[in-house]
Amino acid sequence: MAFQNVISISGGKDSTAMLLLALERGTPNLVPVLADTGHEHPKTYEYIAYLEQALGLEIQRVQADFTADFARKRQYIADHWPDDLKERGMAALQHTTGIPFLDLAMLKGRFPSTKAKFCTGELKSLPIQQQVEMPLLRAGHRVISWQGVRKEESPARQRLPHSELLDLGIIAYRPILEWSVAEVFAMHHKHRIEPNALYSQGMSRVGCMPCINARKGEFAEIASRYPEVIERVAEWERIVSAASKRGVATFWPARGATDVSLKRHGIHSVVDWSRTSRGGRQFDLIASSEGPACSSVYGLCE
Ligand code: SF4
Repeated sequence: MAFQNVISISGGKDSTAMLLLALERGTPNLVPVLADTGHEHPKTYEYIAYLEQALGLEIQRVQADFTADFARKRQYIADHWPDDLKERGMAALQHTTGIPFLDLAMLKGRFPSTKAKFCTGELKSLPIQQQVEMPLLRAGHRVISWQGVRKEESPARQRLPHSELLDLGIIAYRPILEWSVAEVFAMHHKHRIEPNALYSQGMSRVGCMPCINARKGEFAEIASRYPEVIERVAEWERIVSAASKRGVATFWPARGATDVSLKRHGIHSVVDWSRTSRGGRQFDLIASSEGPACSSVYGLCE
């Protein structure tokens, strides 16, 4: 029975530094894995390919598949939705798109948010557990799950132990818990590995683009550098709205608003707000985004 070291790679600085540390130590049985949400920027996919080439290893890709959930949801709609909404709901959920982030939002009839952060678990933790860790356990291996979390990221992470036994007998291991950002980038420099280019383009974190935790300034930056990302999200808002019982679903929740519409609360209005200096219309979710990057104790979102 061999130990298998599963290292979740996001394309961000922390997981990259952790992978470099594992390689530096000569850690055996490395299983680097990317949980692909389908909502990452192309530069992140390019960066994953760069890491594979520069480090001479393969990073396994896993994706959540919601095909069976769509079938269950269609049945639920047929059984429980009002007659005048059934046709729209059933049609919207006829097929998955194959984009995990979008499929999950369609299934829920809403986008994830800082208060309903179901994305990390459904799009990252579960696929890695089901498609990588469980098969290893079934084959008789012990699994060590390397998690690239750092204490200085959030109060919740300050309370995390360096290692602990998780469900299913998986051992969580957090080797860079005490590291500073400077140490993380120093690790890249030491091994002559470039950080993801998105860090030099105004992004404070790398993962989904945009992440539900993105800061106000990041929206203006994304809109100016990558307007196609904003257009993609606007299209997703229309798709998820069709699958929503309410008939409208905005990427950023319009909390407190009584008459929600894509025109007044959709991603384009968030971008307009992000270009204001102080004040402007308030989007409470974004206002709260100065907090921790992600609540995942698995370190799956950076
Ligand atoms: S990167 Fe952000 S949006 Fe993507 S799964 Fe993690 S918390 Fe959710």
